[in-house]
Amino acid sequence: MVYSNPIEISVVVPLYNEEPNIDYLFERLHKVLDRMNTSYEIVCVNDGSKDNTLKCLIEHHLLDPAIKVVNLSRNFGKEVALTAGIDYSTGAAVVPIDADLQDPPELIEELVAKWREGYDVVYATRRSREGESLLKRLTAKAFYWSIGRMSRVPIPSNTGDFRLLDRRVVEAIKQMPERTRFMKGLFAWVGFKQTSVIFDRPQRYKGTTKWNYWRLWNFAIDGITSFSLVPLKVWGYIGFCISLISFIYASFLIIRTLIFGIDWPGYASLMVAVLFLGGIQLLTLGIMGEYLGRIYEEVKGRPLYFVRECYGFDQSSVLPVV
Ligand code: UDP
Ligand code: MG
Repeated sequence: MVYSNPIEISVVVPLYNEEPNIDYLFERLHKVLDRMNTSYEIVCVNDGSKDNTLKCLIEHHLLDPAIKVVNLSRNFGKEVALTAGIDYSTGAAVVPIDADLQDPPELIEELVAKWREGYDVVYATRRSREGESLLKRLTAKAFYWSIGRMSRVPIPSNTGDFRLLDRRVVEAIKQMPERTRFMKGLFAWVGFKQTSVIFDRPQRYKGTTKWNYWRLWNFAIDGITSFSLVPLKVWGYIGFCISLISFIYASFLIIRTLIFGIDWPGYASLMVAVLFLGGIQLLTLGIMGEYLGRIYEEVKGRPLYFVRECYGFDQSSVLPVV
């Protein structure tokens, strides 16, 4: 496909308090992109950082117009920051990448090579999770296992947002208006011709991760509820099974009472049944609440993000945010 677009590769970087990583990030990005002999832009999204990330980005932008900056009005979270970056990018291929150098910029060469072979999405799968605790690895495994079972579109495991997206995939993603943005799910959902390359994920260069277990848990719930109705539907079947068992047990009790008369003891079984059903009902309500809350978020239809200012964009080329 021939693009009239002068920019071939857009690298999109969401940044939240990443000041110590910026210089080294650009150094490595430039090294790779320059030797690839292509036209490129680096779209940096400042996601409401509290340190000097924005100032540092603007300094880099003034020295190099290929570095463009979108400054969001507050911290919206990585998924939304990434969406903003993708909206503002104009390249024929878009590569989202983390600012902490956990996604090695050198891999972009490999991603682009695959893209040139004709793939629309080239995702980078982690071979190792260096420096991650056993708990993190186990929970990640459990998450990918359950979402793999529940979601109808296969979501590649051990794959972050680091990947290459062809412009047609980007345009498809831009048409997805949902507020709960589980990006790796969205990337998989749109389909197109996909392939992967494997890499070893290093540790964060500087700074600390912004994801604690509570955030990861919520992220996992977002992922599952956005891509599966199984948690909502399964209760119908469970309810049916419980009713069936109850019916059989009730029949047994009636017959036994008719034959042997009334039998007083039964406190334990009564309590177990009441507590069990009470627990299941609350659990179901909770799960319905998860979906209901998300429906409410969608119905409100608020814009995904607000931009305070941006640097380096030709205003006419900036699309209005849906
Ligand atoms: N990030 C962001 N907004 C947030 C949290 C994180 O833009 O609210 C960015 C962060 O600056 C980094 C990327 O998302 O570029 C990945 O974050 P992090 O390294 O903390 O996540 P991890 O690698 O531990 O999954
Ligand atoms: Mg990281």
